[in-house]
Amino acid sequence: MTAVARRSMNLGAVRRHHLSMLLESLLQEGPASRAVLARRIGVTKATASALVADLAARCLIIEGGASSAGTSGRPGVEVAAAGWSVGALGLQIEVDRVVACVVDLAGAVRIEHRVDGDNRRTVPARVLGRVEAVAKQALAEAGAAGIRCVGGALAVPGLVDPSTRALFVAPNLHWLDVDLTRLDQALGFELGVDNEANLGALAELRAGAAVGLRTFVYVSGGVGIGGGLVIDGALVRGVHGFAGEIGHVVVDPNGPQCACGSRGCLEAHAGTGSGATPEQVARALTVALRSVVHLVDPQAIILGGDLAASAEVTERVAEQLRQETLGGRWRPCEVRRSILGTDVAAIGAAATVLNATLADPTLVPLSA
Ligand SMILES: [Zn+2]
Repeated sequence: MTAVARRSMNLGAVRRHHLSMLLESLLQEGPASRAVLARRIGVTKATASALVADLAARCLIIEGGASSAGTSGRPGVEVAAAGWSVGALGLQIEVDRVVACVVDLAGAVRIEHRVDGDNRRTVPARVLGRVEAVAKQALAEAGAAGIRCVGGALAVPGLVDPSTRALFVAPNLHWLDVDLTRLDQALGFELGVDNEANLGALAELRAGAAVGLRTFVYVSGGVGIGGGLVIDGALVRGVHGFAGEIGHVVVDPNGPQCACGSRGCLEAHAGTGSGATPEQVARALTVALRSVVHLVDPQAIILGGDLAASAEVTERVAEQLRQETLGGRWRPCEVRRSILGTDVAAIGAAATVLNATLADPTLVPLSA
């Protein structure tokens, strides 16, 4: 690479960083004039004006009335983040339904649709057809509400490669090797794909029970049980993206048959439909989580999905972990319930798109 090319690449990175800081500042600290924005992010007023013009051309900010707050002399025109008019589509395939939601840049869930139906043993093309229909409905409603969707992502209950968007296996759907890129054409953009528990963990971190935490384990309960592991603020994916599959941690080697083909996995003991009592669910969770706590030493375990419904399960697991882990007497691992409801993975899917937009606003094309 030539020195000139390297310099222009660095300038591009600096500009994207400044655009990101400016947009974040408007969302976190509220509207401001160009002069105030320049001070907030440490650039000249001319640079701030250029950054504002760029974000405005991408419809990520709007200009409002005059303000003299925090400035001396001539009042500046206030600039605000277009938190309500930019959004992302979040989709989720579960065993018994598909979900579509639209989350705006300010973090509000603006549109939410669920379509019930048994997706087990249903050919993937048919389920993806349901996803496409509910996604299109959500996008149409977003358009009617004046929300411009800048992209979307899909949460799936199985092992997936987010880079190729190949689903390897979804045990409870009985799916093997499904190409999820086929939705792109129908939706008009490249749909991101990730494991539902990974996305649930990210949603909890952004706006749920994990706000302020650095290291935690999210456990999503349903027919299957998934897990998302966040260490030092970052999702741990493992080498192949398969990390966090706590549902297939063995609770009892002689236990019941699991959908994965093995015996005695956590989800065979504690999944929805296993017929287990809250006491039995808590016991199985504790056995699996004991190993997790000893390996990872998290600040908290967050129980989501169907597991979030039971205060009894949460309290029992917390107490049993306190008693049965080596450090529990001194530093007990907290157990919290998700506050984001059962569509948390769809919300997390949308959040990944919004996070990417915030990190690099140039991903949103300039408007004509
Ligand atoms: Zn299993």
